[in-house]
Amino acid sequence: MSERRTKIVATLGPATDDPQILRDMMRAGVDGVRINCSHGTKEDWLRRAWMARDVAASVGRHVAVMFDLQGPKIRLHQECVPVDLVEGDKITVVGDPNAPAASGSLVVDWPGVVDAAVPGTSELVIGDGAPRIAIMERTKQTLVGTCVIPGEALPRRGAFLTHAHVDRMALSTKDRDDVRTAIDAGADFIALSFVNQADDIEELRKLLGGTGIRIIAKIETLSAIDNLDAIVEATDAVMVARGDLGVEAGVARVPLLQKRIITAAGHAGKLVITATQMLESMSDSPEPTRAEASDVANAVMDGTSCVMLSGETATGRYPVETVRQMAAIAANAQEGVIPMGVDMTTPGITVAESVMRAAVFLARDIKAAALVIPTATGGSVRAAAKFRPRRPIVALCADANVARHLALEWGVIPEPLHQRPDESVEALVERCLLRAQRRLELMDGERVVLTSGPQVAHPGATSLIAVHRIEGDYT
Ligand code: PEP
Repeated sequence: MSERRTKIVATLGPATDDPQILRDMMRAGVDGVRINCSHGTKEDWLRRAWMARDVAASVGRHVAVMFDLQGPKIRLHQECVPVDLVEGDKITVVGDPNAPAASGSLVVDWPGVVDAAVPGTSELVIGDGAPRIAIMERTKQTLVGTCVIPGEALPRRGAFLTHAHVDRMALSTKDRDDVRTAIDAGADFIALSFVNQADDIEELRKLLGGTGIRIIAKIETLSAIDNLDAIVEATDAVMVARGDLGVEAGVARVPLLQKRIITAAGHAGKLVITATQMLESMSDSPEPTRAEASDVANAVMDGTSCVMLSGETATGRYPVETVRQMAAIAANAQEGVIPMGVDMTTPGITVAESVMRAAVFLARDIKAAALVIPTATGGSVRAAAKFRPRRPIVALCADANVARHLALEWGVIPEPLHQRPDESVEALVERCLLRAQRRLELMDGERVVLTSGPQVAHPGATSLIAVHRIEGDYT
């Protein structure tokens, strides 16, 4: 079986705090780690991020670090009186604890809830889905709803308003603080929760300034689905955040929405991560269910760049085994399928993408063992990954930050290559071939397709494609 091309992101947590466990997870195939800012403290996150860096270095891998911001999560107010709702119960919802409302009403810690709700469409969902209250009417300061799924509404429980009508989302104070922690931790990616429209990304982009941190827009609302193309264009990457998307859209719609998001990202050549409940049962069991194996395999066949583990690794009993299983399922799934969502005829394609598409076709035609791409910014490598080549892309990077960004790209093996500014293109090509040969243990006679520019270290100038035959050792 060939090298796995779909990448794995694992969420860190108490279950991964032992460096030996993290080392084994990375050896088993983790390409990126996620720090979930909804849980734990700043100290936990910094410790985990730095440990991930150390462990990755000790196993000789480029592993990306992602901080996942909590976003504008709302909760039932702590003063809220617990209510056990049954189907058909009428209940008043307020966003201000001082607002006049009937006794026993639900108080949400978001004053904007009354204006944001769309009566007749929005539902207030508590906890993981129950109780669920259909919003029927709005008065001046309250909402009136009917319980459609029974359950107990308890103080401090998380809540979610579906189809919320919000103007531009502002980052919360907590999110802004957490962005600063992510920058201190040297994060490679920041995931932005509850993005509704392309403009939501701008504030984070400004805050990140010249740090080079790449933005992942989490697609988890129906507004984001409505504005998908614009969001994909504005962001560096997207996440199919199936947990909250399932709450808003209903679980039955998640599979097709997943395909739609992966296809939109694929057409734009943007990295896409499929997340949540992928191997959920492995939190307590050493083997996944057959349905979970099929879910991971289907995400691979959909063309996702990465699959993600959440509680399975952060708090589960079998974090290492879970990564092993995910890697094995993903590697098996890639055999014999051309991922969906790859459009070889994309109109409006850039020159860089066109060169890379030609290189990918060429590699496929001549059954090349790999594509070998020296890169300064990673742009040419991303353009090649867009076309989901059947063989690995060896990306030779002088910059470790670029290497870690590329660690999550489909089929990319980042390899360090020190920059020699006065080097000739011929000498650079020889060094790249040697690296690729050693990394992939290529045999004499195997062919690779290598792309380069007419000059060394000129980002964006890749225009040459060459076929090389591996002969002897490139020393
Ligand atoms: C999700 O909702 O699927 C998700 C990844 O986000 P979070 O874990 O923050 O809920």
